[in-house]
Amino acid sequence: MIAIASVNPFGGAAKPGHREQEFADWFQGQLDDLGLETGRRDVADGRPNIWGRLKGRGAGPSLMLAGHMDTVGVEGYDEPFVPVVKDGRVYGRGACDMKAALACYLEVVRLLQESDTQLDGDLLIVGLCDEEDIMIGSTDHGLHGPHADFGIVGEPSELKLCPAHKGQLGLFIRTKGRAVHSSMPEKGVNAVEHMGAVMNALSTYNQDLQANGRTHPLCGTGRFSMNVIRGGDIVSAVADTCEMEVDRRYLPGETAEEIVADYRERLDPLSKFIPDFVYEISEPSLDVKPLDTPTDSQLVLAVREAADRALGRPVEIAAFPGGTDAPNLKIPCVILGPGSLEQAHGLDEFVEVQQMVDATSIYLGAAKRLCRSGGTQ
Ligand SMILES: [Zn+2]
Repeated sequence: MIAIASVNPFGGAAKPGHREQEFADWFQGQLDDLGLETGRRDVADGRPNIWGRLKGRGAGPSLMLAGHMDTVGVEGYDEPFVPVVKDGRVYGRGACDMKAALACYLEVVRLLQESDTQLDGDLLIVGLCDEEDIMIGSTDHGLHGPHADFGIVGEPSELKLCPAHKGQLGLFIRTKGRAVHSSMPEKGVNAVEHMGAVMNALSTYNQDLQANGRTHPLCGTGRFSMNVIRGGDIVSAVADTCEMEVDRRYLPGETAEEIVADYRERLDPLSKFIPDFVYEISEPSLDVKPLDTPTDSQLVLAVREAADRALGRPVEIAAFPGGTDAPNLKIPCVILGPGSLEQAHGLDEFVEVQQMVDATSIYLGAAKRLCRSGGTQ
């Protein structure tokens, strides 16, 4: 799986050398070989989602095990696509994020079949494209399905059970100026200098969120950071435009409108002190929805039981640190998977084999508990 370089092309269409489609073909082939009913849907050219259905007896709830098939890039990575098993770990790009979980899903099907276990409800295995960019795969799957009653997304959580995560709202703040020859800057309006005032006005926002912001029992408080800036064209002209892309990690229950209102509350007063100060806020450049599955829901209780049993200790319940495909799938979901986000996008990605074994047991136990008519007792 690691050897098929399914690096996200970061843009709408497939690009040469970015082998998401080849990986999807391979994964669908595995599901076909296991005898599942399979299907696929091209979300963009050469960028499919695929799925396989292990039919149950037809009487119970269905469970989706979902994961993304793409990986982040490999710049600076020494031999990213040469998988190595060493000291109880699997190394390579995509090892923990998240080809390990996809491998575990195949193993769950195999174990059910080998033990002649037929579930009451269907087990759906889903491979998604484009998680690492703007999640066109899960967005499309949420709209077009196939769906299930419950979902588990095996992102690398170190086997923590994560019913919640923050959302992420990216957008641009733009300042407008008036270009003049820089021999007489006092005749122009400098958009770069005005962006400096914007940065000043927002410089305490992240601290404010942590000290006085809303809180969520698992997610804690929101976060803010200023991460990309561009302005001006040449050194001999006063800059007439400047833009900054800012990132806001927001809590379940918060909305984009509230966040934009927060920005405006801090930026509107600037026009009182700064002549010709003009700014605008763009539509979102990125909007990953938050996840908030109730901790007393049937899904969380069943996965918790399965995990406690597989691990031989109470599973840790936490918020997942990043955003995921889960909210886009539009079914109750939790995140639980082998590996750690600390290794996920680094240059030495690995997953512990034992965590894959444990994750497989947890998924199997969860499927047996959830895909059963008459509930989870
Ligand atoms: Zn991931």
